[in-house]
Amino acid sequence: MNSTDLSNPYQELGVSENSSHEEIKRAYQRLVLKGLSQDWPVSDEVDLDDMEYHEDTESYSSVCRCSGEYVISDSDLENGHNIVCCSNCTLSIRVLYNVLQDDASNNQ
Ligand SMILES: [Zn+2]
Repeated sequence: MNSTDLSNPYQELGVSENSSHEEIKRAYQRLVLKGLSQDWPVSDEVDLDDMEYHEDTESYSSVCRCSGEYVISDSDLENGHNIVCCSNCTLSIRVLYNVLQDDASNNQ
């Protein structure tokens, strides 16, 4: 099979044309985080302490000025991801947080 079709953005993102706006956004976010995290334009910086933690989903959220939501999960943070796209608009934020390991080494 030789069906590499870069003219289909859905295929490139690994989503279908029937995917919801949010699914596409998240797929795009992951694509960006993989390769372009250094160059991704960030509109704001938010301290992790100022975000709301949701135990059920093990993720942090922050409200965007458009009333959309920024969501970043524990596993994203563990993987070193700190850029989050809004669920509703094209803005993105950088999440500021300390590496958890600092805590363990000071706790003796
Ligand atoms: Zn927004």
